[in-house]
Amino acid sequence: MEEKMAAVEAEEKETVSKNFIEQEIEKDLAEGVYDHVQTRFPPEPNGYLHIGHAKSILLNYGLAKKYGGKFNLRFDDTNPTKEKVEFVESIKADVQWLGADYEDRLFFASDYFEKMYECAVFLIKKGKAFVCDLTAEQIREYRGDFKTPGKESPYRNRSVEENLKLFEEMKEGKYQDGEKVLRAKIDMASPNINMRDPVIYRVAHMSHHNTGDRWCIYPMYDFAHPIEDAIEHITHSICTLEFEDHRPLYDWVVRECEFENPPRQIEFAKLYLTNVVTGKRYIKKLVEDGIVDGWDDPRLVSIAALRRRGYTPESIRMFVDLVGVAKANSSVDYALLEYCIREDLKLKKARMMAVLDPVKLVIDNYPEDQMEEVEVPNNLENPELGSRMVPFGRELYIEREDFMEVPPKKYFRMFPGNEVRLMGAYFATCTGCEKDENGNVTVVHCTYDPETRGGSSSDGRKVKGTIHWVAAKTAKKAECRLYENIVDEEKGKLNEDGSLNLNPNSLTVLNECYVEPDLAEGKAYDSFQFVRNGYFCVDCKDSTKDHLVFNRIVSLKSSFKVQK
Ligand code: ATP
Ligand code: MG
Repeated sequence: MEEKMAAVEAEEKETVSKNFIEQEIEKDLAEGVYDHVQTRFPPEPNGYLHIGHAKSILLNYGLAKKYGGKFNLRFDDTNPTKEKVEFVESIKADVQWLGADYEDRLFFASDYFEKMYECAVFLIKKGKAFVCDLTAEQIREYRGDFKTPGKESPYRNRSVEENLKLFEEMKEGKYQDGEKVLRAKIDMASPNINMRDPVIYRVAHMSHHNTGDRWCIYPMYDFAHPIEDAIEHITHSICTLEFEDHRPLYDWVVRECEFENPPRQIEFAKLYLTNVVTGKRYIKKLVEDGIVDGWDDPRLVSIAALRRRGYTPESIRMFVDLVGVAKANSSVDYALLEYCIREDLKLKKARMMAVLDPVKLVIDNYPEDQMEEVEVPNNLENPELGSRMVPFGRELYIEREDFMEVPPKKYFRMFPGNEVRLMGAYFATCTGCEKDENGNVTVVHCTYDPETRGGSSSDGRKVKGTIHWVAAKTAKKAECRLYENIVDEEKGKLNEDGSLNLNPNSLTVLNECYVEPDLAEGKAYDSFQFVRNGYFCVDCKDSTKDHLVFNRIVSLKSSFKVQK
């Protein structure tokens, strides 16, 4: 795995050095097309952002930063049906968390409605737009398709005066939704269907979250977006591939509206991940159907979910850098995201002891009421993190899988007669176990060697196994949540009826875990390595002082599987 990742890294470095957007920008700067760089991230506030948006945010922000330019956050809130204040707030928080600093440049497309209206009037006056009375269905029929050219609307040749009057009346609320639209007058025979007199304004008697009832006409995306970019002096309007065919219309709008130094659109491929759900539509459905615990359920890849799961902005930046920018759609292996969070946490986080599937271990020759503290290093690879004192006593919890009555070959943990190291504490020799009437092990017994304090013997005796433990008396009980991918790519992401093929094991809740007392001090989002079990973080929603909840961010090795 590590080798594969190194190869991916090398390959991606090459891609990064050839990033075609950077090449375009450098060409534009060299040729004097622009004398600065200005980018933007334009989310529609109709859901939470996901990992794909993170790529777009970091790409736009990164480009601005690289070329000494500026980066704007602009809500593309021209569509009054879906926008919600809740989404606006979450998007702002996510962009900030990712470190894409938009400073004081937070904008709303709806603030430009007046200017967009003026642009429309300007086009009418130039004879480049007309009011059309065809119904939506007729417009579709007249449009033609890839094989057939479109037919001109019978309203196409209305006079400028009549168009101005009708458009004014549309604005004044004289017409019902759908009764009239404003269309650009371009070319019904264009091979590009987007250029066949597209609708640029529609009547919609709807309240808008920002402008209230001020408007009952709203601009269409393809008309509004280039104007928003031009108003903000965006130079490079970076968007995803599905807008490639819309670029001629984008260019038409900024040209015909006669913006000086107009922006240009550059498309790149969307980021897709295997085994996860990135489409807003699907995530929304999972939330609405109650299959997940909100938009920030740690099994999702919304930014809020990744944060709750324990991902860091650094790990997401590393991921986006490794993936690079491409012009062709492809899916990235989810394992790459996991690799990035492991890399980020590896040297930063303390390695703590937590027992997820406990069985009691009694050290029969340890004094009944005695407790002591042993010193345990916080991170074996990074001595700078120092060490901590961990309470140790006669009764401990160990992982159930660390004891076997009849061990298989190469099992070096606890079995009768075998000596192991209790991590950071002493050598202990297993003496047997107790069982219930069903044959389940209830208590494991051992004796310890007081001469081996610190975990090594003075007589040079070696042990092959080291196991982690938590002292029963001071242990804190905790809930640990383990995750698997929410959809199973190998079995197909979608069922025949188009619904998601969900993995029934995507969440495992372990209610009776024991952790060392220091872990009770963790605050929301704090993360730790739990010896052998992976990286975990304190759940920001459900964890309290009395009921600790940890989310597993990722296991330690991709090949590593906890048997449950
Ligand atoms: P979804 O399809 O997931 O609902 P969207 O494209 O509707 O997303 P918007 O809010 O319209 O979401 O997008 C904001 C910006 O994010 C756009 O510039 C869009 O191109 C970009 N974006 C959306 N999804 C991805 C993705 N998977 N990878 C990269 N960029 C993306
Ligand atoms: Mg969208």
